[in-house]
Amino acid sequence: MLKKILKLAAVCLVILAAAAAVYWQLNGDRLRAEYAAFKKTGAPVLMYHAVGPEVGIDWPKTLIMPEALFESHLKYLKDSGYTIVSVEQLAARLEQGESVDKYIALSFDDGYKNNHSVVLPLLQKYDAKASFFVINKDIGDAIHMNEAEIKDMIAHGMELGSHTTSHAPLAKIDEKYLAWELATSRYYLKKNFDGYIVRTLAYPNGNYNDTVISEAQRYGFYRALTGKVGVNTAASYKNAPMEMYRVTVADDGSGVQGLADRIEKAYLWGFLQTKGIDLNIIRNIFVW
Ligand SMILES: [Zn+2]
Repeated sequence: MLKKILKLAAVCLVILAAAAAVYWQLNGDRLRAEYAAFKKTGAPVLMYHAVGPEVGIDWPKTLIMPEALFESHLKYLKDSGYTIVSVEQLAARLEQGESVDKYIALSFDDGYKNNHSVVLPLLQKYDAKASFFVINKDIGDAIHMNEAEIKDMIAHGMELGSHTTSHAPLAKIDEKYLAWELATSRYYLKKNFDGYIVRTLAYPNGNYNDTVISEAQRYGFYRALTGKVGVNTAASYKNAPMEMYRVTVADDGSGVQGLADRIEKAYLWGFLQTKGIDLNIIRNIFVW
């Protein structure tokens, strides 16, 4: 039975691929032009974590970006003509209907100390801005930024965002803790950082659902970053500001080409979304 189903699925895939090839043959030029036009209307948000030497976290090494590779990313973006902004700056452009052609936003999750010691000087060198998402309970411990470092980031025009109070996966915890994770985080960030208004949230592990969205909005967040791949257009931002797209950046051994490929993937997935095809849904089924 299973064999039969697999066989049928394989046949369907071959037919689909053949149909796509024929379609591309007939419409390739038009699609290429459409894709090029689409790329001018959407902006990727890149997701980084730690940058620099080992920070004592037990994760896949690929998520810790070597400093030299990170600098080569900034250089590549600049040389490719990108304006590098924070998520808040990108959102303002999308809201005001300003062009986001060749705009890209950088985001850093978890608030590692090296975001201040390594990332900030490089951002200044390349005239770039970025958003930093801190976890309240980790502020000031051995590997995360302390309050003085976060204040210095803000003073340099960087955006401070919330990555919740404890980094709990919001759709998986009891709803009664959402106020603690969201409202408390936002309240204390405002209180501890001279009235700085935190407007952007990054969902821990990209985990959220409709309840999380409505609670986050109720507690004053304007927008939120998911782990869904795509680019942010005026339309996508207007329709779903609490589900902004972003693409993970990793040190996967492919150097700066790896970054270029991930950016292209974000544009391509975004373009397919305008055609009603959301590869994020398929990715979630197969955990790809
Ligand atoms: Zn995180």
